[in-house]
Amino acid sequence: MKDRIEIIQGDITRSDADAIANAANTSLLGGGGVDGAIHRAAGPQLLAECRTLHGCETGKAKITRGYNLKAKYVLHTPGPVWSGGGRGEAEKLAGCYRSCLELASEHGCRTVDFPSISTGVYGYPVDRAARVALSAIADYLASHPEIERVRMVCFDAHTKAAYDAALSEL
Ligand code: ADP
Repeated sequence: MKDRIEIIQGDITRSDADAIANAANTSLLGGGGVDGAIHRAAGPQLLAECRTLHGCETGKAKITRGYNLKAKYVLHTPGPVWSGGGRGEAEKLAGCYRSCLELASEHGCRTVDFPSISTGVYGYPVDRAARVALSAIADYLASHPEIERVRMVCFDAHTKAAYDAALSEL
């Protein structure tokens, strides 16, 4: 599966994947960070559709159209807030990636791009988050050949280095 996972540095709002994930909050009503950037790039119709979804649990995902984005769909997933690692954070973070990929498969997507969920404002240590993310993605890909490529779109070099290291250890 490793050959179907790519790590790049960039801005996920410019992604041309079939679907992009959004590190949302449980209200799905927009926030800062990558969430704010995705809403700005997609336009106000994205928030209008999100309002019809009535939120989302941490570790699950909900899908909308992509509106002004190149991506056809946005997979909104609230990541866990880091609180030391003893509150099920890893299971919830793995759930984010798995739930997004399940929705992507159901909607016929072949390529999916993710930001580094929970490692911004939510404070998840990036080295740990990278290992959880990539093993969840690799597990999913092992039994889902319909997904041709999953890309981690890292906003900065430090984040990219953490995902590169985790991929080489996979
Ligand atoms: P969370 O609340 O889940 O921690 P954040 O949006 O605060 O979410 O941060 C998640 C990651 O997304 C961070 O690594 C941040 O640098 C990154 N990020 C912010 N803007 C973008 C963007 N336009 N494209 C890709 N990643 C981004």
